[in-house]
Amino acid sequence: MTVGDILQRLDGVRASRGAWIARCPAHDDRSPSLSIREGREGRILLRCWASCELSAICAALGISVRDLFASTDYRRPEPPTSAQALEEVIRLELARIRQREEARFA
Ligand SMILES: [Zn+2]
Repeated sequence: MTVGDILQRLDGVRASRGAWIARCPAHDDRSPSLSIREGREGRILLRCWASCELSAICAALGISVRDLFASTDYRRPEPPTSAQALEEVIRLELARIRQREEARFA
């Protein structure tokens, strides 16, 4: 499961600083309060600002909590060997997330 898979199941999705917000499927959400973010190793981080339980959000999405930790397309970047390499990793990761974001809104 990828962030894209999650976004496709949500309503009112919009991008917000390298992450996304959407209407929470687990409560009657009028203004988007679910934050979707990609964490380390492709994990998908969901947080509802109205304090819905993660399990409730996943149930409403028809997925299991475990699905969030099983990204299929993530490739672990090589460990950076210098400050320059670290900058490159950061740049590539940002580009990858941006690409995915553009695919979502294309
Ligand atoms: Zn909620």
